[in-house]
Amino acid sequence: MIAEIVVGLPIDKAFHYTVPNSLETKIAVGKRVWVPFGKKRLVGYVVGLITDELKSSREAGPYQIKDIEDVIDEIPVLDEAMLGLTAWMSGYYFCSRGEAIENTLPLALRKGKTKMIPRQGTTERSYDKSFDLDLTSQQRKALTPILEDLDKRRHEIYLLFGITASGKTELYLQAINRALKHGMSSIVLVPEISLTPQATERFKSRFGDKVSVIHSRLSAGVRFSEWQKTAQGQCRVVIGPRSAIFAPVKNLGLVIIDEEHETSYKQEDSPRYHAREVAIKRAELTNSTVILGSATPSLEAYHAAKTGRYRLICLTERILKRELPKVKIVDMRKELAKRKRLAVFSFPLEEAISRSLSGKRQIMLFLNRRGFSTHLDCKKCGYVCECQKCKSVLVYHSDAGKLVCHYCNRKVDVPRICPSCKGAYIKFSGSGTQKVESELHRLFPSARIARMDTDATSKKGSHERILDAFKEGKIDILVGTQMIAKGLDFPQVSLVGVISADTSLNLPDFRASERTFDLLTQVAGRAGRGEAPAEVIIQSYAPDNYAVVAASRHDYEAFYEKEVPTRRFLGFPPYNRLIKFTFRAGKEEKAKKAASDFAARIRGIKVFKVLGPVPSPLIKVRGSYRWNVFLKFRTDKDFSLQLRPLVAEFKKGRGAYMTVDVDPINMV
Ligand code: ADP
Ligand code: ZN
Repeated sequence: MIAEIVVGLPIDKAFHYTVPNSLETKIAVGKRVWVPFGKKRLVGYVVGLITDELKSSREAGPYQIKDIEDVIDEIPVLDEAMLGLTAWMSGYYFCSRGEAIENTLPLALRKGKTKMIPRQGTTERSYDKSFDLDLTSQQRKALTPILEDLDKRRHEIYLLFGITASGKTELYLQAINRALKHGMSSIVLVPEISLTPQATERFKSRFGDKVSVIHSRLSAGVRFSEWQKTAQGQCRVVIGPRSAIFAPVKNLGLVIIDEEHETSYKQEDSPRYHAREVAIKRAELTNSTVILGSATPSLEAYHAAKTGRYRLICLTERILKRELPKVKIVDMRKELAKRKRLAVFSFPLEEAISRSLSGKRQIMLFLNRRGFSTHLDCKKCGYVCECQKCKSVLVYHSDAGKLVCHYCNRKVDVPRICPSCKGAYIKFSGSGTQKVESELHRLFPSARIARMDTDATSKKGSHERILDAFKEGKIDILVGTQMIAKGLDFPQVSLVGVISADTSLNLPDFRASERTFDLLTQVAGRAGRGEAPAEVIIQSYAPDNYAVVAASRHDYEAFYEKEVPTRRFLGFPPYNRLIKFTFRAGKEEKAKKAASDFAARIRGIKVFKVLGPVPSPLIKVRGSYRWNVFLKFRTDKDFSLQLRPLVAEFKKGRGAYMTVDVDPINMV
């Protein structure tokens, strides 16, 4: 007997090993084994068994093949669907099958440490807590086809397009409940940032011990024990961030992706998968239903729904008929003309803060830039302080009193004179969250103010502490980055202020408008969640920009109709697909040369449209230079087979390190 084995290395190939007689009864597809590999001993995954003697001798070839040393598991760690899913991932995302498999498993299993044994006498956890709310007629209409598909076990993909607080989560809960009644499990993906105790409590109070919550703060040990409970069928509902899509649930019937448009669903290390695509594939292989939920769907998803690939269901009313908040845009160009100096707050925003404080209501202020100033520049010669290793602009952090690189976290002293012209005119420019906080203290000395960004929440538990204090009314003004933009539900908030709508508009990315629209809509959605009316003020230097205007009117459709022709004209997603190839090297020449060679080679294959090579907007990160090559092709074509040999050739090394990013969401 010959076994086909893959290992967790970037080698795109299955290796043949002979199965010694003593192991023939133990081996099975999907189990882990120990195999000799070069001079090492590695964990291997059995992906196939060849028992036909003639065939196996032919497959094995004339060379001597080695024996498998041992079979680790008593029951497979991968079922047929997971083997199929990981094989698909390897093809789609240009990684090896072994890498795709290891990506789905907890660390303990990858290291070959624990063996999987059949479960003994564990009973499925009971639940009797579930109660469903009476749905509104709109909710009922939305849920009916989903329940029907679950009853008939049909594979279907729904885009649940529902404004904030329209009752999407209630629909998820009821769909999960129906799946449970049929003995089917569910996976719920949520962005890591919304895995707050408040959010998961809703699931726990409905489904009790059947729920397994996975988040990044869990230790490897706890994570593995949750994995085991799930594999043994004790947990029927798994909630977690993108990696939870690989949860080993028994009899999967339903996959839900909340906030489907979130960029955190894309993994930025190999394999660079998108949880939405993996979810859809897994659902296809297991005949499951998929619900993608969002108040601001990704253009890809909305386009797919409009063209019939997904089924569109809409929730257009808020529960309890709460009004969406009124949004006012402040033209900062006019504000600038009114004042001598650039201020953090416009007059209207300053007044609104003051009004809200005297009315004893709460305020959230949003700025997607941490630190104090955004940069330090010389007013005389124009020199801007940059990180030597990353060529990125250094940001001043007042708490550390240093300039900090946001890419490699290097901290350097603030120069007193301009390093370039030696003049004394070097000054801080731009505002970050720390400056907003300090300005608030200056203008409103008696207000209770807290700041929430990655600097302020680096200590364990501080994230929850700040949110709890805000919820209990111990904080008047909460200042924060995108950490406060999403998902939070504080009914006492009467004012939401966006300090600058423009930070994301100016990104070198074709999705800059989409990101801006999404962020502003989400931020605005933090207001008006209670009974009293609320207002939103957006400060912008581009008040006429369609993304800003559409967001201020809560009008997704208007944004979509403006954005889509541009995408079509430029040939970007959703009309075409993209693959990004990045070449990195310590010397810029080498990165550029490898990228040029690669671009020339794919240009040789006629069907592709190649962009580049181009230097990455972030040309130098942690001392290595980056050049990109983009490949555009029609969504209905699959060229992975033609690309594969070329990718393998360049991955071996051409003086630069190459990475492949399929369907990239990050253009740098
Ligand atoms: P979304 O997920 O769209 O933001 P939620 O499901 O969280 O919306 O619903 C918003 C609020 O309305 C929640 O507090 C929820 O408990 C409540 N809610 C949802 N559906 C109903 C319903 N049918 N009847 C009463 N309250 C509901
Ligand atoms: Zn740096």
